[in-house]
Amino acid sequence: MLYTTNAIVLRRADYRDYDRMVTLFSPEYGRIDAIARGSRRLKSPLVNATEVFCAGQFTINITGERHSITQCDIRDSYYNLRFDYDRLIHGMYYLSLADAAALPGQEAPEIFMLLLKALAHLTYSQLPPALLTASFEMRYMPLMGYLPQMERCVACGREPDPDDVRFDEEKGGVACGSCSPDAPRVSNGARRIIWRAAQTDYNAVPKLDGHPDWPEAARLYRPFVLRRIERRIRSELPDLP
Ligand SMILES: [Zn+2]
Repeated sequence: MLYTTNAIVLRRADYRDYDRMVTLFSPEYGRIDAIARGSRRLKSPLVNATEVFCAGQFTINITGERHSITQCDIRDSYYNLRFDYDRLIHGMYYLSLADAAALPGQEAPEIFMLLLKALAHLTYSQLPPALLTASFEMRYMPLMGYLPQMERCVACGREPDPDDVRFDEEKGGVACGSCSPDAPRVSNGARRIIWRAAQTDYNAVPKLDGHPDWPEAARLYRPFVLRRIERRIRSELPDLP
């Protein structure tokens, strides 16, 4: 049986003499592990389609349990990422977070679109990679079911005193200074950035460029991600601002 789906290559491994095993992420089918026969032969039409980051329309044949890629219409391979080591590390991290989200047979259209938008900005815009990455994390986590509580204190439920608001990454949101005395303070600006991110599209990110508080928001948010996702991350962690 043949089917086609949009997908992006998250990982690949050589298999036998000329084949590759490819892990795809599809908005409709989640994770797909597929073989690409002959894709390591130089003249194979699948040689570029089986590179990490390659996104396109894949045609896949299922026989029994085995999925094989028969064709790919490449839409973007984010090729220039390969020439900028710093941006490449950020991009690998996005793939790794997508990998942590992708389950076989489970659709994930929002995370798929988020991934493609973030990779496009990382490849084609001049925005700081750390800004793009924090913006990715702040949209990814709510989609994974981890929405930080940014309005009321996570411990007591009251509105924190505006002069002493903390971000308690372990409890998952803002807290009063008296409820979480060891948690770092969060400025109003950073608090708003984290709160807004969960409600705005990724393409709104350029508005934050030059905002004085995004580096603080990025540094506060990373531990919130790692506590919940770290054991599922296979890539190197990109630098914080
Ligand atoms: Zn409190």
